[in-house]
Amino acid sequence: MDTFLTKNPAAAAEFVKRGGVVAFPTETVYGLGANVFDAAAVAKIFEAKRRPADNPLIAHVGSLDQIGRLAREIPPAAEKFIAAFFPAPLTLVLPKAEKVPLAATAGLATIGVRMPRHPLAQEFLRACETPVVAPSANLSGRPSPTAWEAVFEDLNGRIDCILQGAATEIGLESTVVDCTTDAPLVLRAGAVSLEQLREIVPATRNYRVRPGEVARSPGLRHRHYSPRAKVILISDFGFRISDSSGFIGLREPENLISDFGFRISDSSGFIGLREPEQKFALTRVCGSVAEYAHEVFAFFRECDHRGIATIYCETVDESGLGAALMDRLRRAAE
Ligand code: AMP
Ligand code: MG
Repeated sequence: MDTFLTKNPAAAAEFVKRGGVVAFPTETVYGLGANVFDAAAVAKIFEAKRRPADNPLIAHVGSLDQIGRLAREIPPAAEKFIAAFFPAPLTLVLPKAEKVPLAATAGLATIGVRMPRHPLAQEFLRACETPVVAPSANLSGRPSPTAWEAVFEDLNGRIDCILQGAATEIGLESTVVDCTTDAPLVLRAGAVSLEQLREIVPATRNYRVRPGEVARSPGLRHRHYSPRAKVILISDFGFRISDSSGFIGLREPENLISDFGFRISDSSGFIGLREPEQKFALTRVCGSVAEYAHEVFAFFRECDHRGIATIYCETVDESGLGAALMDRLRRAAE
């Protein structure tokens, strides 16, 4: 099967209406969408991505009134978040409506709902005339796609259509907030920060998996965001390495210092906020945390194209978008 490429949202929506799967741009990353009420179409998403069957999908709406078709009820905290933020890079986990097939929620009684603010995504979703479930449009485990070319690289021939837009604005996936508990829980950090959520519902807090407990967000159980290269996080000390340096830290220094010293020039990449002293095969210095977030997945893919073996990522301050970026970097380094 050839994947149809188009810039026309109405043409892309036709595939969804006929039970197909379509990749489309949003302000976060590209999604791979199908009609939420068509279980056979939803199954094609899992197949195309090779996504683990227990990882639920986020339903995307083109208008607020569609939320009522997905959710059995809208808890008061969710009402407040919708009024304050939607459309936004924010997913709210709500009790699912009976008509939503379990295929879409990986068997859960809840469903994640988001209204993207990206104009082309909105046009596409409205043309679909139904909510569209969509995970990121990459092969499972790979860095999320922030340009249509990255979707093509992973999924050409495996999906019906790619709606070609520009590179995505944010570059990291949406914030996911579980609104089915007494205090809302942030299951995944994103561009809508914990600080912003607390301004609307002060009881909101970060979810942490307790040892031995099954994660509330199934996505937390799976490998994610990984380039083929090994990802290593570095903070200050990475910039001043020399033969006469010492090391103290919590992790085995082999990964950090010795790799850094020996393999830098030929097969290592660097991305961060400050210019490193060392030479790397590929260096990306970003002017802000927002630019770093915007660039990171594309940089991972570029490193893979060049056969780079190790990517050094500078850590950032964990406030605002920095918390989301650090979450992705940590998981890529796992
Ligand atoms: P992706 O679309 O690939 O970014 O993945 C969607 C993320 O949202 C995964 O981490 C899921 O675990 C999470 N998610 C989606 N729906 C739910 C839900 N009903 N309950 C908890 N987490 C969810
Ligand atoms: Mg994903």
